[in-house]
Amino acid sequence: MSLLEGRTGDWEIVIGLEIHAQVTSKSKLFSGASTEFGAEPNTQVSLVDAAMPGMLPVINERAVEQAVRTGLGLNAQINLVSIFDRKNYFYPDLPQGYQISQFLDPVVGKGEIEIDLADGTSRTIGITRLHLEQDAGKSIHDQDPRKTLIDLNRSGVALMEIVSEPDMRSAEEAGAYVTKIRSIVRYLGTCDGNMQEGSLRADVNVSVRKPGGELGTRSEIKNVNSIRFIREAIDYEARRQIEIIEDGGTVDQETRLFDPDRGETRSMRSKEESHDYRYFPDPDLLPLELEQSWVDAIRESLPELPDEKKHRFMGEYGLSVDDAAQLIAERETAEYFEAVAEGRDPKIAANWVTGELFGALNRTDTDLSASTVSADMLGKLVDLISDGTLSNRLAKEVFEIMFETGDDPEKIVEERGMKQVTDTGAIEAAVDDAIAAGAAQVEQYKGGNEKILGWFVGQVMKATQGKANPQAVNEILRKKLDG
Ligand code: ADP
Ligand code: MG
Repeated sequence: MSLLEGRTGDWEIVIGLEIHAQVTSKSKLFSGASTEFGAEPNTQVSLVDAAMPGMLPVINERAVEQAVRTGLGLNAQINLVSIFDRKNYFYPDLPQGYQISQFLDPVVGKGEIEIDLADGTSRTIGITRLHLEQDAGKSIHDQDPRKTLIDLNRSGVALMEIVSEPDMRSAEEAGAYVTKIRSIVRYLGTCDGNMQEGSLRADVNVSVRKPGGELGTRSEIKNVNSIRFIREAIDYEARRQIEIIEDGGTVDQETRLFDPDRGETRSMRSKEESHDYRYFPDPDLLPLELEQSWVDAIRESLPELPDEKKHRFMGEYGLSVDDAAQLIAERETAEYFEAVAEGRDPKIAANWVTGELFGALNRTDTDLSASTVSADMLGKLVDLISDGTLSNRLAKEVFEIMFETGDDPEKIVEERGMKQVTDTGAIEAAVDDAIAAGAAQVEQYKGGNEKILGWFVGQVMKATQGKANPQAVNEILRKKLDG
């Protein structure tokens, strides 16, 4: 557990997240209008989405299926009967005057997922529920100097709200949780997980307490749309609350906003209670009843999910949690790794994918799908190391050239003469030269200074342009110096 130190001793941070994930579906939750991103304003609005009097909502079966798929992916209870409620509030971009949501009887109940932390440990985080609800439209304040414009394209789009238990204890854990949720919905194809476009965003609930004490009063930071901002908001908010309490004050239950430019949270409004919304079952919609066989069929169709894959990678390939967690984060990465590992040493394959490849992709801000180095090519490079053609050092150089040119490793080695020298004759000659040039170093070595061996290795490498096989160099050196 990571604790924060205050003037009065240690504090524990308690975090629970509500994630809003936009359902991947061609049409909206209760209408046939399109959900395509980036269309001209108000071109994807049916009479239902505009809340014209007398219009009736009709449930989109696909959206329900996606919610159930997600629930199964969260190892959660699927409720065969759930109920849509009206959650009443006024927003200029909510023409109905209420949002259709699920309150007491959500479609998905309790579940749990694993999160993976940087220190190589994993923890289980409880899922409280997942319910379906409509998104609101969008108010645009920056296109007309005097008016606020309303775009209803988003009005009625299906959202899944995934509520966690207050089980997280640090900004890192909250970040790992969002990462895992995003990974799960992407594997399932139920949400594209695009945080920049707002398809996945989180309300972050934070409180502090003395370790093991009663839960403190929480504040809720609304609509945070990047993992980095979530972490920053939590750290700022926890510090703010600790200071208030240590100064003898009390934390208000309130809704706050995170300002990424200042790295601060700001009060938005005092937190409403659920009775303020006057929830009641929507009289236009019947209770949603699912058949067990339908749910079972969805369960049958699930792919291998991130946590399962992680455990398989650890068991089957002997990878550490950390390597496995990095490799399974995206389905494409996992497939890429398995193609490289096929018939080869999986740990070496994992090192090359998480080390050189991820490094190069990050540095150049490239997606794996656009990588010039295919799994097949990286596999060949690993083979060249295993059969002794390349030392690790040379292989890294070859990799850089592969990444830049998209050329095959064998071709690069051939054309540029990058094979490592294993020919002992050539290495012996270079060793003899080094010994002849280093009388003083030979003395030191004989006097018991083992470290001076590095100097000789350096000389030999210089003479062979770094291509001598390091193992052979060491062996020959010792033989000659000791003999
Ligand atoms: P609301 O919808 O009004 O925000 P919920 O009961 O749905 O209320 O809870 C929202 C979130 O707040 C949940 O993720 C829950 O884990 C979290 N939460 C509840 N109490 C605390 C607390 N004391 N500290 C931190 N998080 C909390
Ligand atoms: Mg909330």
